[in-house]
Amino acid sequence: MPSETQTLEFQAEVREVLDLMIHSLYTNREIFLRELISNASDALDKRRLLALEDPSVELEGEPRIRLEPDLATRILSVVDNGIGMSKDEVVANIGTIASSGTREFLAELKERGSSADLPRLIGQFGVGFYSSFMVADEVVLETRRAGEESGTRWRSKGDGSYTIEDADGLEVGTSIALHLKPQAVEDGDDFHDYTSEWVLRDIVRKYSDFVEYPIEMDVEREEGEGDEKKTVTKTEVLNSRKPLWTRAKSEITDEEYTEFYKHVSHDWSEPYETIHFKAEGTSEYTALLFLPKERSFELLDPNRTKSRVTLYVKRVHIQSECEELVPLWLRFVAGVVDSDDLPLNVSRETLQGSHQLAQIKKRLTKKVLDALAAKLEEDRLGYVELWKSFGPVLKEGIYFDDGFREELARICLFDTTGDESPATLSQYVERMPVKQKSIYYLAGPERATLEQSAHLEQARAKGFEVLLLTDSVDEFAFQRMPEFEGKPIQALDRGDVDLLDEDERQKSEEQQKGLEPLLEAVKGELADDVSEVRFSSRLTDSPVALVTADNDLSPNLARILEEARQSVPHSKRVLEVNPGHELVLKMKALHDEEGTSERFADYCDLLYGQALVREGAPVPHPEHFAKLVSKLMLER
Ligand code: ADP
Repeated sequence: MPSETQTLEFQAEVREVLDLMIHSLYTNREIFLRELISNASDALDKRRLLALEDPSVELEGEPRIRLEPDLATRILSVVDNGIGMSKDEVVANIGTIASSGTREFLAELKERGSSADLPRLIGQFGVGFYSSFMVADEVVLETRRAGEESGTRWRSKGDGSYTIEDADGLEVGTSIALHLKPQAVEDGDDFHDYTSEWVLRDIVRKYSDFVEYPIEMDVEREEGEGDEKKTVTKTEVLNSRKPLWTRAKSEITDEEYTEFYKHVSHDWSEPYETIHFKAEGTSEYTALLFLPKERSFELLDPNRTKSRVTLYVKRVHIQSECEELVPLWLRFVAGVVDSDDLPLNVSRETLQGSHQLAQIKKRLTKKVLDALAAKLEEDRLGYVELWKSFGPVLKEGIYFDDGFREELARICLFDTTGDESPATLSQYVERMPVKQKSIYYLAGPERATLEQSAHLEQARAKGFEVLLLTDSVDEFAFQRMPEFEGKPIQALDRGDVDLLDEDERQKSEEQQKGLEPLLEAVKGELADDVSEVRFSSRLTDSPVALVTADNDLSPNLARILEEARQSVPHSKRVLEVNPGHELVLKMKALHDEEGTSERFADYCDLLYGQALVREGAPVPHPEHFAKLVSKLMLER
């Protein structure tokens, strides 16, 4: 059946990315090759992994990546015998960008009008393939997926659309032919000719030397003397393939570490920290781990739960994204672990139950936490930036991981009412006035709303600092952390917080005298809305506030769970009343005079309504509430 050629439009985001690539003034264009080699290397990993389950896709020959430059036509092809792609996969992988958030990022980039950020874009969104368009004005990708009979040809000039058709006679794997742009000095590139043997050798050595598969190229050499002289073609391997992690730390340059990091992480920036060590003793292995500077958008994807650490055994690649090597809450850490004593034929099942791997995981986790603690000490500013990116992920560990809770708590940073810059819990405890017995926090979606909260009044008046928690994970984490350095941790809007000293308590009790009937009456009026009405020790300026009973779900947690589409039980909250507030005294007078009159009932609704409004929460019957406010305004 003759195959049809379809012309398809790129997704809008892809068009924008391509536009940026083509017109960018980014000078370091040679990195397109690193990206293509990286993709080829990933494809070979994937094929090996798949072959473990399905021997029919096993590679018969050797895995390899070939560079095929053609000087005459100025075409450079990058060919691999990896997993290949089906037609659907080509459309999904090469025609669209899955990451949400690309759009905003693109808008931001355009606004700044700078191409210096291009690497960040490419790194964050996994759009390495498109960097081909920095050097080529047409790209032809031919691919056949392992296990499939026929292949696919994809072709584009980077101008908004691409064509796709069936292609017969292809080997399994992928070949990417770049029709190189004419060389031009003025566009900022170093006048590289990407068909030149020496240029290609240089680029491979610079960026991809440690790639574990051979990167091959046919080269022509003259052999023999005089009349015997002839040109022969030889296949040479351009990369040393020496795994970086097996070399001594002292012999590895920062640049080499950085290039290796970029290869394993698909990131384009330098790592924030490199952790390279060799463990000896009961279990022997080498680990080379990196902490990234910035979070990729992938990390925000709640469905992404894979690690970024690859397991090797005696230099042989065993498993990418190995979940047994680092806990989920370190999923931003990228790198490799190479074990000397695991058997080479470990299956995935054995990995899961392996005691040895569990030990390695523990040690790696400790190493990463130590590195983070050291950074917190010596590079506070950098750490604050890192924390913005990865703090929410790390805090998941406090909730999930009993083993590292305390250590994690020590490296957490929190916003507080006490200072503009975030504080550690130890700093907070150091700053506590003597009379403050507990660590207090308030949780909610926004700092600005929290800062306005009535719950802060008494704490503020006493000079007690309060942690302001705005990450979704915070309240979950704190539920697992009842104390720190012997100080109880308490939510200011939950349970029975007592902030008063003896004198103040006496004063409050004085004020409460004679108010019990009022409390009972308010409770009767609001029986449908609140579980209890009681006197408060938290308030100074506001008449009332709502608090959550100890064992109930806070509105903040309920909101987070609802957003995650979980069913949430709704429990009534407690209304706390400030016995010293004039509004309360006014209500007492009204109650003394009229009992539970209609007006009294209205005032109770207004009291409850304003407690909600103050929190930024919706009132249950807004129309009724608005009417009551109007009525009040018309009263003289
Ligand atoms: P990234 O590699 O960061 O995901 P790319 O734009 O470079 O982003 O590639 C997109 C996807 O296309 C890859 O994730 C992979 O699934 C597929 N792909 C790219 N190159 C190859 C290749 N040589 N062989 C098989 N699949 C590939």
